[in-house]
Amino acid sequence: MEEEENKMAGKILVLIEHREGKVLDYNWGNLGFAVTLANKLNAEVSAVILSAVILAQDSASLVQSVKSKKINEIITVHDPKLEKYSPDTYAYVMQNLVSQGDIQVVVAGHTSIGWDFLPKLAVRLNVGLVSEVNGVEGEGENLIFKRQVYNGKLVEKVRVKSKPYLLTVERGGFPDIEEGGTPQVSNVSVDLSQIEVRTKIIEYVKSEKGGVDLTKSSIIVSGGRGLGKKENFQIVKDLAEALGGDYAASRPVVDNEWVERDRQVGSSGKTVKPKLYLACGISGAIQHLSGMKKSDVIVALNKDPDAPIFGVATYGVIGDLFEVIPALIEEAKKQGVH
Ligand SMILES: Cc1cc2nc3c(=O)[nH]c(=O)nc-3n(C[C@H](O)[C@H](O)[C@H](O)COP(=O)(O)OP(=O)(O)OC[C@H]3O[C@@H](n4cnc5c(N)ncnc54)[C@H](O)[C@@H]3O)c2cc1C
Repeated sequence: MEEEENKMAGKILVLIEHREGKVLDYNWGNLGFAVTLANKLNAEVSAVILSAVILAQDSASLVQSVKSKKINEIITVHDPKLEKYSPDTYAYVMQNLVSQGDIQVVVAGHTSIGWDFLPKLAVRLNVGLVSEVNGVEGEGENLIFKRQVYNGKLVEKVRVKSKPYLLTVERGGFPDIEEGGTPQVSNVSVDLSQIEVRTKIIEYVKSEKGGVDLTKSSIIVSGGRGLGKKENFQIVKDLAEALGGDYAASRPVVDNEWVERDRQVGSSGKTVKPKLYLACGISGAIQHLSGMKKSDVIVALNKDPDAPIFGVATYGVIGDLFEVIPALIEEAKKQGVH
């Protein structure tokens, strides 16, 4: 009887995204989320790695970097058609894995891959999908998934009636998976010979050479639409220089070509974790927060006291950036900060 109660109730499949032989960082948070969920569902966590090569035979393989994580299993599927991502192959493989076992949940990152193939899988399985999940409440069959809507002003709570639950997970929304596991590795074969690959990635274009790697910066001064126009962004650059840091921006600033694309912070830009993140004229939309909220110290400068950025800020300055930033530059220079 006791044994029956402790029996694991199925699996949670987590797609591991990788590029150029490396697991992308945000997958560790996705696995961390899956473990939280597994405790609520009494389920196991299986990381799924799709690749063109036989991973088990490759000593420097992706499997090695997942092997130390506290999960139950690593499932690898290899096929030449999996060399580059395609929604056709990924949805097909995941559907196949779902059909092979008691799968409770399929998790992917809220990334251009996750939000591309998971809706396709949802249609095929005729189940619901919750996107950009950043919290979960309840236990067992009464799970409620949380996500932010209306630019982070409201939290939507979603209960899904169909299973498996398909979820994309907010980037940076959960703590990374713990080390110290010994997951078993299972190689699963899926026949992709009949698949017609209609959507193909042609190439990944790297950001311009000579650009900055914001993920390694320890001080970031970031500017938003509150700067008003391209010329005004110069004060953000000046403050970054005065503090010995790097400048960054929210997406509208990049879209308007005020600064280079590799300076964008957020869900469709960089995920950064500097010692100091100074956000100037940035409202704090969820897509921006997910890229910087793990920074050690966050200072928010905004004229609107209700701006959501203050919700994650260590220190907040309510004021006009055109007055505050020049004063900060002057002070930094006076103190010889840099
Ligand atoms: C799929 C998707 C992906 C996205 N990815 C990203 C992403 O990666 N990164 C990202 O940043 N956004 C992203 N966004 C956009 C995001 O939703 C917001 O629209 C964006 O972050 C807002 O940028 P902002 O804060 O600079 O501008 P706004 O929201 O317009 O905020 C400007 C702020 O400046 C303040 N302000 C104005 N004047 C002054 C002044 N003189 N002094 C002080 N404060 C002032 C205002 O009070 C306001 O809070 C994405 C959206 C979608 C749909």
